[in-house]
Amino acid sequence: EVQIGALPMPQAGGQPNVVLFLRDLTSAQRLEAMRVDFVANASHELRTPLASLLGFIETLQGPARNDGAARERFLAIMRTQAQRMTRLIDDLLSLSRIELREHVAPTETVDICQIARQMVDAQAPLAAERGVAVTLESAGDACPVLGERDELLRVVENLIENAVKYGGERVAVAVARVPQGRRSVPEIELTVSDDGPGIPPEHIPRLTERFYRVDVASSRQQGGTGLGLAIVKHTLNRHRGRITIESEIGRGTVVRVRLPEREQGDAGTGS
Ligand code: ADP
Repeated sequence: EVQIGALPMPQAGGQPNVVLFLRDLTSAQRLEAMRVDFVANASHELRTPLASLLGFIETLQGPARNDGAARERFLAIMRTQAQRMTRLIDDLLSLSRIELREHVAPTETVDICQIARQMVDAQAPLAAERGVAVTLESAGDACPVLGERDELLRVVENLIENAVKYGGERVAVAVARVPQGRRSVPEIELTVSDDGPGIPPEHIPRLTERFYRVDVASSRQQGGTGLGLAIVKHTLNRHRGRITIESEIGRGTVVRVRLPEREQGDAGTGS
């Protein structure tokens, strides 16, 4: 939305001039709308498990008071709902912490190959239990970037988790160096590919929005909060990195993360 205005500009000794101005209201309004939406969505997401908890508490105090079997079943569901709220609050806090630091450039040197190896080793056994094979396809010896270790671990963890949750039977993680182009600095690229059902193209541009999910029921069932890719995107903003998602229905999804390589002697000053 553009605001158009006119201001009279008196001119000494001559005809008064009028200055026309155009002001872009869109970005400020959009930010405000996003903030309001976010609070509404977060409240709704918290209210759903809370309503379920209250329902079960009432049932346990009333009709199911003396039903031992029902009590066990209800308590198990209540536990799942409480865990879901905990995850949601943890993710909300992570997101706000990352946003606070978004404009502070990281200063540590972190090795992405090592992070990929660590995350694949950590997640492969759990994925195998669900019938998904997670492999590390390639990783050089040194993939240094300027970064915050815990934050980048979280990025890789999140992408592998998504590929395991929404993918098929195989998840391949790869790290490669992208040589310097004519206009670009050398980059490190981490790729997480799956052979799942894929994502319809109209959803792809919105996946990094908070709470955006292709299928809310399936995300919830998998214990998702809808914040994972938003956390990834904000972390990458801080690291001057970017994410791209390509997907083909029936073939699978490839998520790529690129981060500027930390060059030797690069002290983060761009020299
Ligand atoms: P969630 O907590 O729901 O997993 P994310 O922000 O991590 O939230 O992901 C947002 C949505 O993107 C998911 O709900 C899912 O619909 C979709 N998605 C993410 N990764 C994949 C993938 N590898 N294959 C198919 N869909 C995916």
